[in-house]
Amino acid sequence: MIIEFLGGCDEIGREAFLVKDKNTNVLLEYGVELQPNIKLPLLPAVKIDGFFVSHAHLDHSGMVPLIYKFQNPTLYATPATLDLMNLLLEDYIKVAGLTRGFSEYQKYDIAKMNKNFKPCFYNQKFKIGNLVAKLFDASHIPGSASIYISGSKSILYTGDINTISTYLLDYKEINYPEIDCLIMESTYSEREHPDRKIEEKRFIKKIREYENGLVLLPTFAVGRAQELLLMLYSNGIKREIYLDGMAQKASDIILYHKKYINDDRILKKVLKRVNFIRTKKQRDRIIKRGGIVVTTSGMLNGGPIVYYLKKVRNMKNTCLLMTGFQAEGTPGEKLLRTRYFENCESKFKVNIEIQKFDFSAHAGRSGLFKLIKRIAPKKVICVHGENTKKFAVEIREKLEIEAIAPKIGEFVEL
Ligand SMILES: [Zn+2]
Ligand SMILES: [Zn+2]
Repeated sequence: MIIEFLGGCDEIGREAFLVKDKNTNVLLEYGVELQPNIKLPLLPAVKIDGFFVSHAHLDHSGMVPLIYKFQNPTLYATPATLDLMNLLLEDYIKVAGLTRGFSEYQKYDIAKMNKNFKPCFYNQKFKIGNLVAKLFDASHIPGSASIYISGSKSILYTGDINTISTYLLDYKEINYPEIDCLIMESTYSEREHPDRKIEEKRFIKKIREYENGLVLLPTFAVGRAQELLLMLYSNGIKREIYLDGMAQKASDIILYHKKYINDDRILKKVLKRVNFIRTKKQRDRIIKRGGIVVTTSGMLNGGPIVYYLKKVRNMKNTCLLMTGFQAEGTPGEKLLRTRYFENCESKFKVNIEIQKFDFSAHAGRSGLFKLIKRIAPKKVICVHGENTKKFAVEIREKLEIEAIAPKIGEFVEL
């Protein structure tokens, strides 16, 4: 078995791994790196027999339609992943057109992708050429999966994975089969998350401090927005809550695929209470009246949050609470560091209170080590991280398991 690394190794973005075994070629992911500049994975130089996407986030799925310009492999993912991908990929085309004047693919490539889709469900074995595959729940976002492939060797690719339960998703320990090689996400290999309950208390306390004011919650559309809504509800926040931007459609898709979430009845109830915002007039009214606004985008690089920020940057009794990972070079990361908002159109100082909270959907450092220990593979390949090399050294030293951190363009033979 040979694994070629087409992207997403010592970086977070453009995930793409090609598995070649027993005359069968399987492509795992075909993502895009968005920040600070668009970067694509290498193109696979073989005919793909099976194409897997672990979940809808663009760092894993952003360039999937590009493959369908060249060939027609069957696409394997959960139905929730396909629907969420469609939402994010169409948005990618729109944003790419607006900011760069072109997109690498068009809607008809997405249509071709959809035509080749074969729905997959957790824990069900199926064949691809001479290989056997299975998806496991990864508890990262609704529909997210870890991918198991078995041929002359067995591999498990974690995808993005969480090892704790959240309001939206339940985590259950999975009994994985015997694994020769674990391809491991490493996002938080260097960092522990703060205690979730304490972080949640701090967050709710801050929201209550602005009881009569305006609270802006910029968020990722898929997963985090719904988690925040459930968190506000569970903590008895009775104020008006507004949902703006792509998070509205994402919420509808997640509710439709209800079997992937903890309790669809509560999410349904919460979404009924929430006001959906679509126009500038509505936004201006909220700015005057106050309330809690859950809106995209999570790293402030677009979406309605930019409109709100521009209008309220000097407003009293207003705060911005960030709850997501802020990649280096994004407007969100720069704002936290400098108090200045800056994108390609404008730059201005933001004088309202800004706070950062950690409600990550990725396993923290000890969660990752525990998972490796439990799976006990013969070899670990560290990917999807900013310091995968250091993580591999630590795995070798602490767990005495062979571990490597490949670079883009390299391959390993198992
Ligand atoms: Zn993800
Ligand atoms: Zn990712």
